[in-house]
Amino acid sequence: MIDVAGACFARTGLCYMQHAGACKARTLQAPSPRLPRPSRIPYNPPAMSNARVHIVCYGCQMNRLDAGLVAEVLRESGAEVVADPAAANVLLFLTCSVRAHAENRVFSNIGALAARKTREPGLLVGLLGCMAQQHGPDLMQRAPLVDFACAPGRLAELPDLLARAERGERPVALDPTRAGDRAEGYPPWRAFGTADAALDRLEVRAAETGAGPGQAYVRAMRGCDNFCAYCVVPHVRGPERSRPPAAVLEEVRRAVERGACQVTLLGQAVNKYRFEEEGRAWDLAALLEAAAAVRGLSRLDFLTNHPRAMTARLVAVFRNLPPVCPYLHMPAQAGSDAVLRRMNRGYTAAEYLERVAMVRQAAPQVAVHSDFIVGFPGETEADFEATLDLVRRMRPAGAFVFKYSPRPGTLAARDFADDVPLKEKRRRNQALLDLVGRIAAEDNQAFVGREVEVLVEGPSPQARLRAATGRSPWRTAGAERSPSASDLLPPASGLQLRGRTRCHRLVVFDGPPEDSTGSGHALAGREVRVRVEAAGALTLFAALLPDK
Ligand code: SAM
Ligand code: SF4
Repeated sequence: MIDVAGACFARTGLCYMQHAGACKARTLQAPSPRLPRPSRIPYNPPAMSNARVHIVCYGCQMNRLDAGLVAEVLRESGAEVVADPAAANVLLFLTCSVRAHAENRVFSNIGALAARKTREPGLLVGLLGCMAQQHGPDLMQRAPLVDFACAPGRLAELPDLLARAERGERPVALDPTRAGDRAEGYPPWRAFGTADAALDRLEVRAAETGAGPGQAYVRAMRGCDNFCAYCVVPHVRGPERSRPPAAVLEEVRRAVERGACQVTLLGQAVNKYRFEEEGRAWDLAALLEAAAAVRGLSRLDFLTNHPRAMTARLVAVFRNLPPVCPYLHMPAQAGSDAVLRRMNRGYTAAEYLERVAMVRQAAPQVAVHSDFIVGFPGETEADFEATLDLVRRMRPAGAFVFKYSPRPGTLAARDFADDVPLKEKRRRNQALLDLVGRIAAEDNQAFVGREVEVLVEGPSPQARLRAATGRSPWRTAGAERSPSASDLLPPASGLQLRGRTRCHRLVVFDGPPEDSTGSGHALAGREVRVRVEAAGALTLFAALLPDK
């Protein structure tokens, strides 16, 4: 165990930047006159020889990245991470709080373990991540089958928590609350310094990042300070903290050494990245420039982007840095100014469209993706029409559409009634998805006949259907099927594979015939060339081209 105080870790040996003297690194936030109370971080985690851990991960890329950290810290302490939940004596749920539906699924999956817990009294259940922070100590009453809980910022302490749970305690490790930080009188991010340092040390060691074959996620930022009125993230993932560029770049280099050709930099509003050290101020454009120079990296992207923080300087990376992929996730959330104001998004629909235009002017090939929430409190039919109108104007390459879900503790849940009936939310959700799909299907036609580069993810989930029926799943893929695709199908030869273009479009194609009985993994994680033969709303259908 080691005691650490403050946000600079050079003297303690915890600073991964390995500065010779005193560490001059600091984030751009004003330094605090007060230091946080020292807290104890388990430095030599307890050894576990009998733990067989299975991790169930819900939610976003951040959670998948966190799952890699969890696996790493537990393996380091001697646990075995197993793929089969039935073989595990520790079940970990890495959870998401963004919508009530996600939380309910976790509670019901844990509830379903009651009989197994009776049969296997030694089985331990841990609830990790956003739900732990959201529910706090109340969680242990609400979920009596949970043996220990751990907030996103405390994952490095898992071996210690697990050891305590094995001794019969029910430990709960939470991050500081935002209200609590303000009451303490120092900037909230300072209170995370110690735990963040432990996570950073772990992050740089972790071999798995939760991304697919040939890909890696690298965290550029933690937390969020935007406080969009509907969103629980700033409450459960703490204040915005940009990670030191040296740590981010080291992780990019290691990912490439391990075989990744694509790296995605993550942050809730990653385009707000700011870090100052030794007189140099880094923004995301500077970080991307340094990352793009890593030898062997062929694809670099970054998500998610807040429209308000989109700058001409950042947009120029699409033009100037060849590894940067022509893909931008920049959620609009709504097209009505009144709704955007109530959402606390900080821009109007016209300003959002200006940002999209700025991107396309600099680099017309960039596929702009968005998120939308339908049925936000007070959303009228006219407001929803404004969202449809924004979609018609921006023509996204794709979009996630969510039905508003009130989240306890958020501004919207406090101030507005959830007054759009569920039936109406469902109708708007479907209408918006249909429109996005129609536009994407039209725009995807431009790909037909083109040769594109695809990073192979592995066998397509539809491949099993082919194995069962002997027919190409392209003929039976329902909503995924393009009307024109059925005329253009190549003969069913190898295993059907899936992958992504540089602009993030999903492509399915038959793998090499010699791989027809194999797993399809021979190409997984590699870039191949294909010719697009047909296009639907969500998928391009292609034929594999021989290696050049
Ligand atoms: N930080 C990212 C951003 O700003 O776009 C994404 C954060 S959030 C995990 C992913 C998406 O979930 C958001 O873009 C939003 O559309 C949706 N979302 C967040 N809170 C929601 C809520 N209470 N109800 C419905 N959708 C929500
Ligand atoms: Fe949530 Fe808004 Fe932060 Fe995204 S930017 S995580 S939507 S508060």
